[in-house]
Amino acid sequence: MTTKTWHERAAALNADGRAFIDGWRVDARSGLCFDSLSPVDGRMLAEVARCDVLDVDLAVTAARRAFEDRRWAGMAPAARKRVLIRFADLMLAHRDELALLETMDMGKPIRYSLSVDVQLAQNCIRWYGEATDKIYDQVAPTPEDSLALITREPVGVVAAIIPWNYPMLMAAWKIAPALAAGNSVVLKPSEKAPLSSLRLAELALEAGVPPGVFNVLPGYGDEAGKALALHMDVDCIGFTGSTRVGKQIVQMAGQSNLKRAWTELGGKSANIVCADCPDLDAAVESAIGSIYFNQGESCNAPSRLFVEESIREAFLDKAMKLIPRHAPGDPLDEETVMGAIVDQAQMKTVLGYIEDGKAAGARLLAGGGSARQDSGGLYIEPTLFDGVDGSMRIAREEIFGPVLSVLSFTDLDDAVNQANSTPYGLAAAVWTRDISKAIRTSRALRAGTVHVNQYDNDDITVPFGGYKQSGNGRDKSLHAFDKYTELKTTWIQV
Ligand code: NAP
Ligand code: MG
Repeated sequence: MTTKTWHERAAALNADGRAFIDGWRVDARSGLCFDSLSPVDGRMLAEVARCDVLDVDLAVTAARRAFEDRRWAGMAPAARKRVLIRFADLMLAHRDELALLETMDMGKPIRYSLSVDVQLAQNCIRWYGEATDKIYDQVAPTPEDSLALITREPVGVVAAIIPWNYPMLMAAWKIAPALAAGNSVVLKPSEKAPLSSLRLAELALEAGVPPGVFNVLPGYGDEAGKALALHMDVDCIGFTGSTRVGKQIVQMAGQSNLKRAWTELGGKSANIVCADCPDLDAAVESAIGSIYFNQGESCNAPSRLFVEESIREAFLDKAMKLIPRHAPGDPLDEETVMGAIVDQAQMKTVLGYIEDGKAAGARLLAGGGSARQDSGGLYIEPTLFDGVDGSMRIAREEIFGPVLSVLSFTDLDDAVNQANSTPYGLAAAVWTRDISKAIRTSRALRAGTVHVNQYDNDDITVPFGGYKQSGNGRDKSLHAFDKYTELKTTWIQV
């Protein structure tokens, strides 16, 4: 589609910011709203319902009722499968509309909203839908006088709290396995990007997910989010977000009803490029492409780059040639690969880290400032620091913006030690043509995903999540069912 057409559609966008409870669009009980402004150009997108403890009670009650009367959990797995596949089909049928909501709400380029966010989110719903009638329970090896069944049952009411960086995809990673397993769900999207989640709830209903089974409550973290985490009738909470809030979620689960609390948190992932990497061009392209993808607002962004000293100069030469390609552009132009930063607060945080890196003595080789000021939106140049030291904040803390910190190494063991010396453990990568070295290094890296000679190539078939303070849960793959099901033993005397 042309940029002009996308702009016309954006101008005509009529986003509904009301909550979705028990099959209906409703205002918050308090009547309060907040404004959703687009980071693309600053325009007002929608008045969003500011849900709080009252709305949480209503949604949890509706979800509980739907669970108890078995309108969804009691459906034959093949029937649930058909509904979820219809849901995925509807997402594809509304692909342009969903992509536009995502781009306008959080600033990512429309090309990726289409090809990554809508595409992967619908595939996730479809994949768990497909899995619904293909998973078997177990029979234990008992003596002859007994029969013992090990079965999985839905946990009940699942609360999902998600971040703003991949709003639709993070929603899908939570709701797809939770719904496929027969649970009821109450989803709280981030206040910064709630619009696509709300639209998903309407499409799910249209596909045949019964009212009350999937509810969406937009609102603030310390109001709607906190009320969900503390609720006595929520059985499980699936949280994706920062490590800071993740710790609070686990505490609130313990303070209330000891609901199962699954956390998928932040990262400061290390990308280690050895001098014997099989293809230096590919390594550079991947390192640059992955850090600037989604404006650097990715939990698994390879934000610490360790380059072996003997190839550092060659690596940086090539990197500097690629960086201009990632300059921010109009998110509604399908050629644009880097869009807008989600909001003023995030903008300030990222620019603050850049100032901090300069003050600490790192060498700023590219970017370092804001861009496209005349657009009315929020943009930051792709930024690269060389000469970064492991003690600097830009090497230790998650920046969540388009900022790459380059550290060099001469000894691989030392690089691995540095890579591991972080509270995080989400992802890592190593580039080498020596297979033994690759295996030894990937075993030594304390991270939920280790990439070898690539970055970012995974899919719905493999688990995603972190070691250490990057969280305890795993999204994606059949392992995600572990979070949303209880194991039951039934021992029968024969
Ligand atoms: P965040 O500030 O922790 O917020 C995450 C969610 O929690 C939002 O919906 C937020 O609501 C809510 N929240 C905030 N305070 C809360 C409270 N006291 N009680 C209950 N809920 C509360 O994180 P973010 O800035 O949205 O997202 C960025 C973070 O997510 C990064 O650290 C990133 O690495 C991480 N992330 C991890 C993964 C993964 O799979 N491991 C994937 C994507 C992102 P409000 O927005 O309304 O405050
Ligand atoms: Mg927004």
